[in-house]
Amino acid sequence: TTPGGNRAREEKIVVTIRLRPLNKREQSSKEQMAWECTDDHTIVNRLNTHDRAPQPTSFMFDKVFGPDCSNEIVYEDGVKTVALSALMGINATIFAYGQTSSGKTYTMRGITEKAVNDIYMHIINTPERDFKIRISGLEIYNENVRDLLNSESGRSLKLLDDPEKGTVVEKLVEETAKDDQHLRNLIQICDAQRQVGETALNDTSSRSHQIIRLTIESTLRENSDCVRSYVASLNFVDLAGSERASQTNAEGARLREGCHINLSLMTLTTVIRKLSVGKRSGHIPYRDSKLTRILQHSLGGNARTAIICTLSPASCHAEQSRNTLFFATRAK
Ligand code: ADP
Ligand code: MG
Repeated sequence: TTPGGNRAREEKIVVTIRLRPLNKREQSSKEQMAWECTDDHTIVNRLNTHDRAPQPTSFMFDKVFGPDCSNEIVYEDGVKTVALSALMGINATIFAYGQTSSGKTYTMRGITEKAVNDIYMHIINTPERDFKIRISGLEIYNENVRDLLNSESGRSLKLLDDPEKGTVVEKLVEETAKDDQHLRNLIQICDAQRQVGETALNDTSSRSHQIIRLTIESTLRENSDCVRSYVASLNFVDLAGSERASQTNAEGARLREGCHINLSLMTLTTVIRKLSVGKRSGHIPYRDSKLTRILQHSLGGNARTAIICTLSPASCHAEQSRNTLFFATRAK
């Protein structure tokens, strides 16, 4: 990649915050809204009555989405430009990061749907190019990789190093989408398959990472003397609950007992922190976890990244929310 102002700005990780509304249970137990979005960029703690050391009360980001913001708005203002770059041959990854029950899955499902609509809209409006979209889905649980489009895949799939493609997941099913409806159906199969795992093993959803990967290829139909073809991946990543990495978030906080360390999540937070610092951050430990190995070519280099950090507003979750905001601050 070439250095330079514009280039550097393009490669910046887009970090947004999404604050969900209080849910019914929180409302009935009279939880208070601990956070408030005071403008499009700022989120503040309304109940900063700590008897302990004073904590920062205000955080600023590219964009903050309050409890009234729809998935549509989150997509339009926080994701769209990153997602659509995959149509131009630039790898793109969208993450949802946050504690369990903060709204990651709600957000990822919503924006995946919006992105699919938008991609097909673009295809209709670009008749001079011939597009082909493939999809794969996988889940990483305890560093085991499971195929979400093949319920018979059984044990953990192996990662292989391909000299051309980089890390590939051996035997991972990849389907070609016939049209937008077919693609939606395949995404639904991945979501349903993930739920099967959740009921089989208590608490999987908070510990597992889901990746839905679209590979978008296009070539110019005519003009054969300048056949420019593009190929890129667009990854939708619904991460494990960030409480699994809280020891890396809270400054100086001790590892809580019983808090299972999630290697992939910890490694991802390190990789993102180093990428956000820029080139001089030295060695980036992509190879230390399955998640970062699988995503290596879609992070850093010629790639675009958006992270939506989801937050529970409830005062009982204030500490985890603060940890999420610390992570988000470091990712910018
Ligand atoms: P996570 O995946 O982070 O564990 P979920 O996405 O499952 O959390 O969200 C937890 C609950 O809150 C779900 O019932 C979901 O429908 C609801 N929820 C999450 N975000 C929102 C939102 N922005 N608006 C309305 N309901 C939401
Ligand atoms: Mg979830």
